[in-house]
Amino acid sequence: MPRYRPGRDASQADVDVDVVAVKLASNENPWPPPEAVRRAVAEVAAGANRYPDHLASALRDDLGRHLGVDPASVAVGAGSTGLIQQLFAAYVDPGDEVVFPWRSFEAYPVFAGLAAARQVTVPLVDHTVDVDAVAAAVTDRTRLVFVANPNNPTGTAVDTAALARLCGAVGEGTLVVVDEAYREFLDPRWGDPVVELVPRFDHVVVLRTFSKAHGLAGLRVGYAVAHPEVVATLDATLAPFLVSSPAQAGARAALGVLDEIGRCVERLVAERERVRGALIAAGYEVPPSEANFVWLPLGDGTDGVYRHLERRGLVTRPFPGEGLRITVGDPSDNDRLITALAERVTGPGDTPAQ
Ligand SMILES: *Cc1c(COP(=O)(O)O)cnc(C)c1O
Repeated sequence: MPRYRPGRDASQADVDVDVVAVKLASNENPWPPPEAVRRAVAEVAAGANRYPDHLASALRDDLGRHLGVDPASVAVGAGSTGLIQQLFAAYVDPGDEVVFPWRSFEAYPVFAGLAAARQVTVPLVDHTVDVDAVAAAVTDRTRLVFVANPNNPTGTAVDTAALARLCGAVGEGTLVVVDEAYREFLDPRWGDPVVELVPRFDHVVVLRTFSKAHGLAGLRVGYAVAHPEVVATLDATLAPFLVSSPAQAGARAALGVLDEIGRCVERLVAERERVRGALIAAGYEVPPSEANFVWLPLGDGTDGVYRHLERRGLVTRPFPGEGLRITVGDPSDNDRLITALAERVTGPGDTPAQ
């Protein structure tokens, strides 16, 4: 079985003696959640002797209002990863097919393996999901299709028109899962599948999370938007009381301070563009990113650059032989990153990045 490998913690880094390590490995928000969110989470601690609301009904209502959809179209789970696990439990029997582009989010092959599914992967083209090739890989045995948009780890996006083509091309017996973990960082010109796809297709599921833009990765809460029948099926697989009361309270409070979260997202997007520009100027190939990370397709040079950055106290996410995924941090972390990568390109004895 493939195991999910969490990003390495800063405290585990093999660093030069006098630098403080930072973690740029798991696409977390570098800033703590807004004060209002922390207060709401602290307040529910006093009621922690009671089980939470199993279905997180108040959060579903809030999400319904926020998204302009019926709350019956919203499922809440323990992060979008929890919802991905629920999708496999609900829809995939041993031997069924699941289709996803590769490389993409590492949880897909993990849960596909646990479900004993037949995995069909479709190569990226120019670090980007080839939506029509994904559609062509679907058969009548395919239960689930995953498209992470923007894609993790490459950061590239496809537009809703392409996703609509995919939904139109596959039969209703196949669920198309659009994993929008980085939705808030995506430029609006790529479209909104909740508005454009969910009302049109009964076999599409949009996954979103409070882990990235909202800064609640440690609380574990995400949601799915889909046809009410799909939501009811997902709910049948939800482990009792899985979404904790601090997670529910934190998510509801976050929906109350979206302007503050939006400003944080704007800062990170500006930093992403600054980092990407500086790395391109230093000679690296950096595909355009619509997320809170950048992708360096370094091929065989991946390990060397990873270790160099680690010694400089920058823990990133290597995919050996393929590339390095680097989370956008706060401006001072990003300055350190830019300096360390520029060193690597021009340093004596180093092979320049291609
Ligand atoms: C981070 C990530 C998620 C999962 O986030 P949760 O914390 O489980 O909500 C899901 N999909 C992709 C593509 C991700 O990168």
